[in-house]
Amino acid sequence: MTSEKKVTSYSKSDILGMTSAALCAVHCLAMPILIAVSLTYRWLDGLCYIFLAIGVYAAYRATKCSPLWLKVIIWGSLVMMLTSILLESVSPISVVLNYIAAAGLITGHYINYRQTKHS
Ligand SMILES: [Zn+2]
Repeated sequence: MTSEKKVTSYSKSDILGMTSAALCAVHCLAMPILIAVSLTYRWLDGLCYIFLAIGVYAAYRATKCSPLWLKVIIWGSLVMMLTSILLESVSPISVVLNYIAAAGLITGHYINYRQTKHS
């Protein structure tokens, strides 16, 4: 299905993508608590952008030879995550959007990982 020589780096990118999405979901879940205990929370807010940047890098590396539907799931989830970050201060629904995006990223990378691992 894909070029066998790059399987290992694709798999690593999928693991990186799943990890960063999971960490962002945990981070966003913990934000209200973090804000409550820390007066200097603004830098914590910026962590989402770091997770997003890692996610874009991982998606770029992992989806080079992926089928279109899988690219749509992974890149669509990243766009959804960016949207949720941008809407964070405007709408409370953005948190829900972030969890959906994280779930989409984890699912997409997991399927991609399974497809490229043994092919
Ligand atoms: Zn986050």
